Amino acid sequence: MKIEVLNTGSELLLGQVLNTHLGYISEKLLPLGLRIDRQATLPDGPAIRDALEESLSRADVIFLTGGLGPTSDDLTRDILADFFQIPLDFHADIHEQILAYFANRKLTPPDSVRVQALVPRGAVVLTNDFGTAPGLYLHREGKHVFCLPGPPKELRPMFENQVLPAIRGLVPDVIALQQKIWKVLGLGESMVQEMVEKQLRVFPGMEIGYCARPGEVDLRLISSSTTDLAAAEQIVRETLGSSIYAENGQSMEEVVVKLASSKRQTIATAESCTGGLVAHRLTNIPGASDVFLRGWVTYSDQSKIDELGVEQLTLRTHGAVSKETAAEMAGGALRHSRADIALSLTGIAGPGGGSAEKRVGLVYLGLARLVAGQVTVDVIEKHFGQPREIFKHMAAQHGLDLIRRALLK
Ligand code: ATP
Ligand code: MG
Repeated sequence: MKIEVLNTGSELLLGQVLNTHLGYISEKLLPLGLRIDRQATLPDGPAIRDALEESLSRADVIFLTGGLGPTSDDLTRDILADFFQIPLDFHADIHEQILAYFANRKLTPPDSVRVQALVPRGAVVLTNDFGTAPGLYLHREGKHVFCLPGPPKELRPMFENQVLPAIRGLVPDVIALQQKIWKVLGLGESMVQEMVEKQLRVFPGMEIGYCARPGEVDLRLISSSTTDLAAAEQIVRETLGSSIYAENGQSMEEVVVKLASSKRQTIATAESCTGGLVAHRLTNIPGASDVFLRGWVTYSDQSKIDELGVEQLTLRTHGAVSKETAAEMAGGALRHSRADIALSLTGIAGPGGGSAEKRVGLVYLGLARLVAGQVTVDVIEKHFGQPREIFKHMAAQHGLDLIRRALLK
């Protein structure tokens, strides 16, 4: 069964909205053994018609997203009716539902919502519990066309509850594909490949994929065999060990908060170059309050002295970006917060501020812990790239990873 996705919306091509539908739909189809063969993004307008014609010449199933709204740039309904040469029928019950949707929110509906009650004759109406535009499912000439609303909060429940059951009915013999993803920090893409690929080649039909991101790699395996996947998982875990920081879509901060919570350990942060990013990411995770006690953003020298007790002499002798300052920041954060683990970060984010011996991108990460009643501090040196956002992300990522590794010990 060939499947194509057509994402419509000029805002997607202008780069104003990230197309999340493609990833969502492919993730939902994979367990049914289905994959998207091709995808196109189209501006609102007549190009949708051409793309639909082209896709219908190849594919059996087409997901067409967006353009079901009431505004002049929402053309999906008209294009579909015109393409298949079928009339649009006004459905009074849909109109009633749309009016009720507005009434419930104490809003006055504009007249234009009427068009959302127009249905190409013969199409199945997919109810929209989270918006006004219903979806449409048209089965014509052996082709299945699903028209889905643009907003993700409307598309997703509709897909889950109404589209997936219909698709399941189209694939009687499901050869379910399963996917495993491991996130690896600190090893390059080719290094990961060198370490695992030969061992994984023994599994027939297993798809091995790598996705490199700044400073890290995703290793992805897809297979229809549960036993092969379990055996491969064992190999991957044994080979990559603690370089794997997360499985199946978890974020670093999620892993850290869960791990700290299960080990009943508390965390404090003292950040300079990351400007609070580590604290921000930790507090994005529900349950952070159980483990995250306190975070400092000590950007200036004086704040490092006042807030964390860094010695003036240390700053003068070694500089704010130094092993010594990172160590005192972490130690100070541990003492003042009474947390079990304290992380410090100090570095040169650039583009200015570097020198011959301290280049832009240099970071010191300090980790202080209480071990048998004694404060121990370890500091590591790292060099990250530009621009600033990437630098900050990588510094925060490695900082969180230090906490994770300390928690594993
Ligand atoms: P509406 O009734 O809101 O107009 P619609 O079905 O006409 O819905 P669009 O107008 O195409 O859909 O898109 C509405 C909003 O949905 C967009 O502003 C955008 O924020 C979001 N959206 C559309 N397509 C996508 C996509 N592929 N990925 C993520 N968000 C999207
Ligand atoms: Mg719209």
